[in-house]
Amino acid sequence: MYCDLHNHLYGCLPAETLFRIGKENPEPRWHIYVDAFEKAYGIKTQPKSFFEDYADIKKFKSLYHFKEKAPFLNFQAKFNLIIALIQFHEKEIREISRDVVLSHALTDVSYAEYRLMFSKDELPDAYYRKLIACCEGLAEGEAKAKSEGKFIEARLVMSIHRDLYFERHYDWMKNWMVKDTFLRKYLVGIDFCHIEEGFPPKDKKHFFNQIIKDNKAETSTALSILYHVGESFREKSPFSAVRWIWESAENGAHRLGHALALGISPDFFLAEERTELVSERLDQIHFDLENYDSILEFGSYFSKEDLNVERNLLKTKINNDQITMMMDSIKIRYLQTFQNFIMSKIAQTNSIIECCPSSNLYIGMLENLPDHPIARFYDNNIKITIGSDDPGLFDTNLKREYEKAHESGLDEKSLSEIQRNSFLYTSPILSGREIIDLNQGQVN
Ligand SMILES: [Zn+2]
Repeated sequence: MYCDLHNHLYGCLPAETLFRIGKENPEPRWHIYVDAFEKAYGIKTQPKSFFEDYADIKKFKSLYHFKEKAPFLNFQAKFNLIIALIQFHEKEIREISRDVVLSHALTDVSYAEYRLMFSKDELPDAYYRKLIACCEGLAEGEAKAKSEGKFIEARLVMSIHRDLYFERHYDWMKNWMVKDTFLRKYLVGIDFCHIEEGFPPKDKKHFFNQIIKDNKAETSTALSILYHVGESFREKSPFSAVRWIWESAENGAHRLGHALALGISPDFFLAEERTELVSERLDQIHFDLENYDSILEFGSYFSKEDLNVERNLLKTKINNDQITMMMDSIKIRYLQTFQNFIMSKIAQTNSIIECCPSSNLYIGMLENLPDHPIARFYDNNIKITIGSDDPGLFDTNLKREYEKAHESGLDEKSLSEIQRNSFLYTSPILSGREIIDLNQGQVN
């Protein structure tokens, strides 16, 4: 039996289903898709004849499936096809939730958490109705699976926006959960996804504290905090990308989405010139100096003197200026040290890293699966789970993701352990809603 703790409900849609939904939609939102797709892939699609042009499902799949190594913006351009073709009304949300749950139950997934995101400006009434529609669909999916002799528990995690209204949407959900036992049963966490660049975890510290306080005050409505971080980090140095992952864990994120920067081989960055804001570099130097002796226990690193000189120089610059960092062979060694230091710190927390091999291979633009950090995480005693992320788009399923983790270097025994332990990393357990006896439950 499998437990899928990282997937996005609409990213689960098979190509055939998306095509059908789009064709039935009287007004697809082409403006979301056409230009972004042309910009990313140089292909101009014609809304007028789209469903004739791509009637051959193989052709449609070539537009939809994301199986190439390309940056997050290309992935987003393909995800936009989903956003453009769906209607996102209650009936559709309910049906999709039901069908996705059933299809997962039929592939031996017995517990899954599905992430869903509404638009920033959704009004409370519509937000609530869609939320309930999704929960009803999940419940219907569970019941349908049962009638076919399969057991699955399906739960909902709401993705909220990094930039706007995240506190407001959280407050709405908490208030509704107090009154609505059905919603309380299915809604188990909140998530931050989408573009992470420009949204440092330190800005969410206060908000995370509030959630953790609320969770302790009333466990029956506790929500887990899930946080995509270290997946896409072009705008900063790998050192800062690793520190962001630590800051997310330190702030109390229960599960970290991807965290690739933490474990990817430092050689991946060799000879790259990276840029970042002066303020970001200053944050990093501050962190380095505060933890200097502990970092050194993990290998060679910048000298304290150099860090101080650089800091004093940067203080004369404007925070929004950019600095460049050449990732030469010495810095590659330092990065190895820094990654190992942060991994040892994360291993001492209760944070879990969610690895999604296909997604990481393509969006992370890894050369091949052995470059995936999952085995390195495992060897560093970090708690990990394996998720399918957007199995419809990546043309995969959870079983195949376990096979890919195997190709990444984990043996069968380690994989079985991850598979079993994943059931201990569910949102209700991590948020404190469900109490388990770890001595009884932990399977090593
Ligand atoms: Zn994700």
